[in-house]
Amino acid sequence: MPEALLEIRHLKKYFPVKSGFLNRTVGQIKAVDDISLSIRPGETFGLVGESGSGKSTVGRTAIRLTEKTDGEVRFKGIDLYGLNAEELRRLRPKMQLIFQDPYSSLNPRVRIGDAIGEALLDHGLAPKEEIRDRVLDVLAACGLSAYHIDRFPHEFSGGQRQRIGIARALVLNPELIIADEPVSALDVSIQAQIINLFRKLQESRGLTYLFISHDLSVVEHLCSRIGVMYLGSMVETAPRDDLFRNPLHPYTKALLSAVPIPIPKLKRERIVLSGDIPSPANPPSGCKFHTRCPFAVERCKEQAPEFRHVGGERFVACHLV
Ligand code: SF4
Repeated sequence: MPEALLEIRHLKKYFPVKSGFLNRTVGQIKAVDDISLSIRPGETFGLVGESGSGKSTVGRTAIRLTEKTDGEVRFKGIDLYGLNAEELRRLRPKMQLIFQDPYSSLNPRVRIGDAIGEALLDHGLAPKEEIRDRVLDVLAACGLSAYHIDRFPHEFSGGQRQRIGIARALVLNPELIIADEPVSALDVSIQAQIINLFRKLQESRGLTYLFISHDLSVVEHLCSRIGVMYLGSMVETAPRDDLFRNPLHPYTKALLSAVPIPIPKLKRERIVLSGDIPSPANPPSGCKFHTRCPFAVERCKEQAPEFRHVGGERFVACHLV
């Protein structure tokens, strides 16, 4: 048994930029540009960064919902990109994705029980007569009631719809769940309930999560380790407490400075980044963060910093660390 449930090595995903009458490729968007990370069984790894940083593309390529450009992904030691379509289909139930907006993936005319049960049927994971019981079990595990099984998607609140999204993934008995901004569209009080549900399910079912969010305060409550992405690259990974107590990368410092602290006496100095995130089709030279970094020196414009081990379980990409 490999130590990591999910192992990503030098993952790259580039999208072609097309232009002109002949639709020629004139460039590439480097959505994911040489990312490595590993997640242990039962662990929750948080992936954070601004919109456009490539987090969601990492999530999708990590379970081969989107094809990679380069690099390696292993799930339980199995080379995911070495599998043929049938082998991948058989493994698919073990790796599930939960979206920000589960409503968009639900057919408004299909009852919730059928929407949850259809994946079981598609994968041949349960005989028809067992499906209803399996769906009822998973509804209960997700805090929904038995009568919900015959309801339609529009009859549910945002929080309940996310519970349905979780139930659809859970019914397949997965080991790894990629949760892509699963609480971003919800009110803060509902967010807390859904995060508690994720935690409870992890304890009872030994799940492993890759939890993607633009919001550090969301991952703080759930994740044991956190990776921070900027423009397709990982700039820092660290155990949660180390990252929150002592962020090392200037971008992590800026993100954290915007997170409210519950202790009024403790105040963090707010670091406001200038400008918007540059286009990944035309990223800055050297350190991609140099156009917004308050600490940038001349070298940063020319030389990309290496993503280095800096002790313990910490890795950082910055010339000054
Ligand atoms: Fe800032 Fe330079 Fe470090 Fe990049 S390498 S984060 S520009 S100090």
